[in-house]
Amino acid sequence: MTTTAMKIFGEIRNYPVISTHCHHLPDEEYTGADLRFVLKNSYAGWVAPPPDFKDMNAVAEYISRYRCNSYFRWLFAALEELYRIPFRIDTVEALDDAVKRAYVNQNHHLNVLNKDCRYVRVVNERQPSPGSNLNHPELFSPSARCDCYFSGYVRDKAEPNGFYPYSSFENPDISTLAEYIGQMRLAIANYKKNGSVALKVAIAYERPLRFENTSAAAAAKAFNNPHATPGEISDFGDYVMFEIAAAAAENDLPLQIHTGMGILDATNPMGLLKLIRSNPETKFHLLHGGFPWTDDTYALLSGFENVWSDTCWLPYLSTRRAREYLITALEVSDAYRLTWGCDAWMPEDSKGALTAMENVLSEALAEMVDDGAFNMSYALFLANRILYHNARGLFNI
Ligand SMILES: [Zn+2]
Repeated sequence: MTTTAMKIFGEIRNYPVISTHCHHLPDEEYTGADLRFVLKNSYAGWVAPPPDFKDMNAVAEYISRYRCNSYFRWLFAALEELYRIPFRIDTVEALDDAVKRAYVNQNHHLNVLNKDCRYVRVVNERQPSPGSNLNHPELFSPSARCDCYFSGYVRDKAEPNGFYPYSSFENPDISTLAEYIGQMRLAIANYKKNGSVALKVAIAYERPLRFENTSAAAAAKAFNNPHATPGEISDFGDYVMFEIAAAAAENDLPLQIHTGMGILDATNPMGLLKLIRSNPETKFHLLHGGFPWTDDTYALLSGFENVWSDTCWLPYLSTRRAREYLITALEVSDAYRLTWGCDAWMPEDSKGALTAMENVLSEALAEMVDDGAFNMSYALFLANRILYHNARGLFNI
């Protein structure tokens, strides 16, 4: 780090943070957690299963193979900072013991978020319980996931996490598409009434993000039709997405959309162009910078005032790309439309994601200061906006 970056880093590590996108679990799921559980349930676990800690060769191989990967880099850093023990062959068992001891305290998972991560609020999205605040309303504000409404073209089809759209309906006894959309809209209004501060769509894990402004007649072809063709199901999804975007505006709920990674088949953000253009009153909160198609997000940020960019996951996917992303995203938008969320399940991963973001933000802002774009105090103003104030304004919290 340069001297300027070090200065910024030192300052922002005292700032309060609103994590705008998180998947924190209910209390009971953290009971008895150990290092294996942490590694398995972190992004590192998506890449490789944890090694046998008693097998030195396996631990050595695990470290040497994955240390270059951003997930591992920052998770290892977070574990060392939280438990004061580095992740090394000769210390891994001691680290495991330290993790186990910490989780004897039932509040440990919350303490990491409150104290170590300085989160004053967390916008949490938890499936299969959309709208849940995990019984901690003082910390968690739910973002209600709406993916189930894409599956509901047939009544008994759950979304991949096992949630059924009809279970959110006040009156599930319906038979037409119009009634289905009516119940969906009512469910969204109820989420808002019960404390949700956003809607979330992560359908890029299931279908392309290219949404057309489809007619109700086209969408109706898939409705209650177990033999619907992929094209008809896609029309249904397009129609549902436009209705969700309209409901988001009606209820003044930002619409968080996962962009970029997923099925990778046209999941780049530009597929949202028609949706965004047709819904100028909807606040689109695009997640992950659209990585690896970050250029798409620059264009949408620059072209539409109702687009916000959340850099969640990005510093964790690629630290280098995230640094470049922040600079360009600031250059094409303004001080008020970038936010950050941890996008993690485990508190250790959340701390890792935050440390990655603090690093990336310091480096990016320092580069702009050193380039003469603005001075140090404006850099700190930007950091404060990105980590806290922009989220307060966007989610009204
Ligand atoms: Zn997420």
